[in-house]
Amino acid sequence: MKHKPREKEEKHCGVLDCKNIAVRSLSAKKVKSTLPDLKLSDSGKRVPLCKEHYKQFKKKTKEERKLESLSWK
Ligand SMILES: [Zn+2]
Repeated sequence: MKHKPREKEEKHCGVLDCKNIAVRSLSAKKVKSTLPDLKLSDSGKRVPLCKEHYKQFKKKTKEERKLESLSWK
């Protein structure tokens, strides 16, 4: 019962209108090129992403890799 709220250490997702807590921080450039439809709220070099948006990002990069490897055949 002694644990203090650590709100100041929690980063929020860098996607506009997303209020989730960020789990990862990624290069803003990479996120923008992978998910151009996302509106990022700050223009720093790194953008924090929540679980959901990180999942989206990972899924997208996976898909692109799959497409890339297919086109090499
Ligand atoms: Zn998010």
